[in-house]
This record gives sequence, structure tokens and C-alpha cells, in this order.
Amino acid sequence: MTTAFFSHDDCLKHTMGAEHPESPQRLAAIVSYLADTELEQTLDWIKPEEITRDQLLAVHPERYLHQLDLMQPTRGRVFTDPDTAMMPDTLRAARLAAGANVQAVDMVMSGQITNAFICARPPGHHAERTKSMGFCFYNNVALAAARALNFHHLERIAVIDFDVHQGNGTVDAFQGDDRVLMCSSFQHPFYPHSHVHRQAENIVNTPITAGTSAKDYRKIVEAQWLHKLQDFKPQLVLVSAGFDAHRLDPLAELNLEAEDYRWLTDMLTSVAHDSANDRLISTLEGGYHLKALAESVTAHLEGLSAIR
Ligand SMILES: [Zn+2]
Repeated sequence: MTTAFFSHDDCLKHTMGAEHPESPQRLAAIVSYLADTELEQTLDWIKPEEITRDQLLAVHPERYLHQLDLMQPTRGRVFTDPDTAMMPDTLRAARLAAGANVQAVDMVMSGQITNAFICARPPGHHAERTKSMGFCFYNNVALAAARALNFHHLERIAVIDFDVHQGNGTVDAFQGDDRVLMCSSFQHPFYPHSHVHRQAENIVNTPITAGTSAKDYRKIVEAQWLHKLQDFKPQLVLVSAGFDAHRLDPLAELNLEAEDYRWLTDMLTSVAHDSANDRLISTLEGGYHLKALAESVTAHLEGLSAIR
């Protein structure tokens, strides 16, 4: 069983300002926490390459990509929405984060690795086909799904999004596409306030009230997701892994802890084991309390590499 860990130093060069929660310190905190664990030796550390233009076009139209290219400044910052800023290193980092997702799909499909965690930024799940928002430019998990569908010709892919914010961008990309089953839990009512009431059969929205206990969260998610996932029999499991539903996260009001992320991971690896030959790719989305993030990612990685 090989778990790959994708990371690239250039993903730390994208910075949206000293006070911005989606900071390079997030990746640094994860890597430095891992350095003190046994996991560091067992993971297969991989430096990704940039996604190609053609691969981006599988989700985002050329006019949107061109618009981002034109907006990226040569110095300073420009805001694409009130929360989301571009600076000279932004699109390089975004191409690496997206590229890691595509590369991970190719590597699990060829059997080189069993599963993977992509420790990169900017995140992706709020990026719609033609709209950057919520710290996101390219939809990393959607690009992974597109690679698996279009290039590897898979017929059933599950996307699980346990970030505290709904993955509106991923819903935008795949609603009504019954090759994809998306299960998304999120605090509600809450940002991004869109795509929650859309009723596509392949989207399982699981709104969670602020203040819900971890125990109740587990019950709700298991009841709404597990049978659906088992019946769907995905050939690949993709995870939008945001860790901002953690009790300590400054941006939200749910109550998960590292052990709950381990529980979620075990549920998802069991689904991958049953129908996907263990193929699972998890990509970092949110998570803004640095220590909670590092502990939660480590618990997630322990689950992926089945080290107790
Ligand atoms: Zn989030």
C-alpha cells in the first residue's frame, strides 16, 4: 500500500496578504508536523508538475482561463472577488495544485500508488467553470474527475467534500452528470450560499447546523452517504478534504476533531476498497487553524496509509 504525498514549494509563493487565512503557513504547518511522525518515512513524496492548458480545458472554458491570465499582475495584488487575490505567483501555484490532481489520477490508475493526498494550494472547490471565488481559481477535484472520466474512461466516480463550506464549484461542474456522485457536507446556512437548493440527483447535499456535535455529524453523514456510495460502486474516490469543520477553526462553527477526520477517512477508504481497488485521491481544500489543520491532515494520512 503506497500513499503518495504531493507537495511543491512554489505553492507557498502565492500569498493573498499577511492577514489572509488561506496562507502559505498552512502547508508549512502540515509538513513540519509530519516531520515529527513515523508517517514521513512511509509516504511517497512527489513533486508535481503543472497542469497543461488542454487538461484545464476539460473543466474551464478558454475565455475564463484567458481572463485569469490577463488579470494576474506582474507585481502587487488584484482581487477577483472580495476574498480572493491574485499576485505574480498565483497561477503557477494553481497550475501545480491542479497538476498534482491530474498526475495523482494517472498514478493510481496505473497502479504506481494506491492513494494520494495533495498538499497544495490554492484550493479549488469554490471555483466554478467560469468563476473564481472563495480563494479558488481552478477546480482541482473537478479536474481530477475530468481526467479520470475523459482520459481513463471511468464510468463512476465519487466525489466526497467534507470541507465546512459547500463545494459549489464542483456542483457547478458535475450536477446532472450521473457518472459522478457528489456527497457534500457543509455548515448551513453559510458561505457560499449557492447551489444548496439545486436538486440534481447525483448531488447529495448534507447541510449541518452550526454547533452540531461531532457525534451527530457522524450519524448524519453516515446515514446520508454510506449506502449511496456503496450502491454507486465508484471506480475511483475523490475527496475535497477541507479541515475547517474542526472545532477550533476560526472561520466556522462545527465541532469535528482530528479523530473525526480519521473516522471519515476510514469510511471513505472502505468504500474505495470495496469497489475501486483502493483508488482514492484526496486534495486539500480549507482548514485555517494551523495546529488543528496539521493534526487533522495527519489523522487523515494515517487512515490513508492504514497506520494506527
Ligand atoms: Zn472551507
